[in-house]
Amino acid sequence: MTVNVGVIGVGMIGQEHIRRLMTTVPGATVVAVSDVDESKAREAAALLSGVKVYALGEDLIAAREVEAVIVASWGPTHAKYVLAAIRDGKPVLCEKPLATTEADCSAIIDAEAAFGRRLVQVGFMRRFDPQYVAMKETIASGAIGAPLIFQSGHRNASVPAHYTGEMSLTDTAVHDIDIARFLLDDEPETIMVHAPRRNSRAGDVPDPLMTLIDMRSGALVAIETSVHVAYGYDIRGEVIGESGTVSLADRSEVVVKANGAFMGRVPADWRERFAPAFDAEFRAFIAAAGEGRVAGPSAWDGYVATVTTLAGVKALKTKKREPVKLRRRPKLYA
Ligand code: NAP
Repeated sequence: MTVNVGVIGVGMIGQEHIRRLMTTVPGATVVAVSDVDESKAREAAALLSGVKVYALGEDLIAAREVEAVIVASWGPTHAKYVLAAIRDGKPVLCEKPLATTEADCSAIIDAEAAFGRRLVQVGFMRRFDPQYVAMKETIASGAIGAPLIFQSGHRNASVPAHYTGEMSLTDTAVHDIDIARFLLDDEPETIMVHAPRRNSRAGDVPDPLMTLIDMRSGALVAIETSVHVAYGYDIRGEVIGESGTVSLADRSEVVVKANGAFMGRVPADWRERFAPAFDAEFRAFIAAAGEGRVAGPSAWDGYVATVTTLAGVKALKTKKREPVKLRRRPKLYA
């Protein structure tokens, strides 16, 4: 069986997702595309055959031929498309963030709860990364005892000119926040953000940032975001438990020894580092969508991530520890 997919937003990641659906993921075909810039949608469609172009994302979602939806447009537009997909009863994979405001995230949760079953998967692809999955299994096995601290490092070689200090939380640390919840099976309670000595390449952007999150269990999450490190895309992670630790291993296809030193490869960007995670994320989405359901990170996970990053944005300004105030979790996400 083949799942007919419509893709909204054909920018950088939208095009990646189309390529992945057409070449890597079994049982999926892209049948429709939409973009606020219709000419870009036409260009994307021209590279494929039999793909319809819709001027409005809502019309793509409602189209008879579309069975599942990918939302890869600009963050502030996500909520309206996710709500439309829920209204039409179609599984939707929404790139992070689920929505950019707490109110929009809550509206999505309410709509999905009213629909009565999950239709939303949020694009936190790290949950499908084999290394993070192995870390979670190690923690769950009890091998390191109760987790006490999670240290996460998120380093980008560089970021685009429009990047801001707030994006360090809403676009970058949001992944670390979600994976912390996944690994520790815990919810954030408070957040504070330190901006130490600035990288001279960072211009006006406070970089690096050190974000400290107290979890409900008392465990501490410490996230370093450094987005001008120049040397590559480097994702670090270690959970310190009561009797042991588990960390992401440096991985390289080969190790080169020369001139009295040894070297491995640092990924260039998130596409290279997380390619296996994106593949697994899409395989899971398509397999579930074929049965009219979704798998993986939920609208609740998207909601918590947005509420936490917005509290972090506030903490960056106030330089104080800010509470992360979460609504009651609906039964649908138990
Ligand atoms: P991008 O290159 O700017 O692409 C966004 C696309 O959506 C652009 O083509 C944009 O058109 C279009 N768009 C804007 N408003 C729209 C609307 N109302 N309806 C339909 N299309 C609209 O950005 P990107 O890097 O691909 O990011 C897209 C989303 O993916 C963001 O939410 C981002 O946070 C997320 N993302 C996730 C990851 C990850 O690791 N999971 C990595 C990268 C990006 P214009 O350019 O004409 O505005």
